[in-house]
Amino acid sequence: SAPSALSAASAGPASDAPADAACTPLPVLGRDVLVPLVTGGEVTYAALDYAASAPALQRVWDDVAAYAPYYGSVHRGAGYLSQLSTELFEQSRQAVADFLNCREGDQVVFTRATTDSLNLLASALPEGTHVYVFETEHHASLLPWRARETTYLDAPRSPEQAVATLEEALHQAPKGPKLVCVTGASNVTGEIWPVRRLAEAAHRHGARIVLDAAQLAPHHPVDLRELGVDWVAFSGHKLYAPFGAGVLAGRADWLQRAEPYLAGGGASRKVARRADGGVDVEWQAGPARHEAGSPNVIGAYSIASACRALTEAGFDRLVARERELLGRLTAGLAEVPEVRVLSLFGDDADRVGVLSFVVDGWNSSHFAAALSAEYGIGVRDGLFCAHPLLRTLLGGEDDEPGECGAPEAAPGERSLNAIRVSFGAGT
Ligand code: PLP
Repeated sequence: SAPSALSAASAGPASDAPADAACTPLPVLGRDVLVPLVTGGEVTYAALDYAASAPALQRVWDDVAAYAPYYGSVHRGAGYLSQLSTELFEQSRQAVADFLNCREGDQVVFTRATTDSLNLLASALPEGTHVYVFETEHHASLLPWRARETTYLDAPRSPEQAVATLEEALHQAPKGPKLVCVTGASNVTGEIWPVRRLAEAAHRHGARIVLDAAQLAPHHPVDLRELGVDWVAFSGHKLYAPFGAGVLAGRADWLQRAEPYLAGGGASRKVARRADGGVDVEWQAGPARHEAGSPNVIGAYSIASACRALTEAGFDRLVARERELLGRLTAGLAEVPEVRVLSLFGDDADRVGVLSFVVDGWNSSHFAAALSAEYGIGVRDGLFCAHPLLRTLLGGEDDEPGECGAPEAAPGERSLNAIRVSFGAGT
């Protein structure tokens, strides 16, 4: 399996990775279109914002195009198209379960994206659940728990410190249900978190753990049995399947005991008027309980297609290719003295193909705009929906998030936002 800091006690720097001639990119949509559009064919346009949304794999596009003329409503019809769609929808669920190496009894629920998946889980927590989350999380992982008792953990400065911080917090945890929410790979630094060790720590203290794999799943195998997390959430549009669907997969029990995330058709098995004039509902069991309304069958189908394509391509190959690119990127940036690469875990951190930096004397937004306009390089600038983390990394305390400060930061002046470069299987 792919080398990974997810489970390894320690990992070497990304630039140690072997350069493998077989590590060619997978075909993605837009590669041929963007080049002549932007450059007249002379310079390659580099779309380096995969962490926001990755381009569709050609394979996903072809699969969707082949199925699209035949889509119908799922679980609601006797006709051929409805039956076909129902069959493909359920096959897609199984393909995702296989991709994640789900355990007996795990459930795959189709959602709109990671944000939706985590909010769904938040809505299903048993009464009195205490939540633990690092302040460094993406807002999608940081915010859904606010209605619960939540402990926000300080930013750790190494994977070991992350485990120790969690252990210490859980040591003092109150009795009752507990949930830890943790990212697999940071959307800002790209650094890989020690997921298996965090899961072991959580379980040692009787807590459950959900993995935000929005940035991990496109780059690394996410194996529920190996990582030992209770749930995982990810988004199709970051996994080369940009059709508006996501996944929450894992333990069924809390999901089955909870009220449906959305009330409506599909989630209800039986609805009847009561003698007193009200309405009684018997909710569905299984994933349908939290999939009310007509599901996004094309989205689910495209996620399944991406899961199959990535599995067939082999994560070993994808990881090796990405490490080679990361090595080139970090070596190039190291030659520019004004550049500071953002990192929580330091030089030895293992990363996916996501890296952020600031340039001394430059406002990051202007820098990113210049990269696009002058060099045909598309990156992202800003605070990446992770304001507390950016404040930690950039050293600010009281600035308004989102503000850019002076148009051109003076040399030595602190930048209030950053530039992010991200790539993946199609780069
Ligand atoms: N978690 C992480 C780490 C992310 O990077 C993102 C999106 O950037 C999300 C969650 C939210 O994903 P979505 O916007 O697809 O719901």
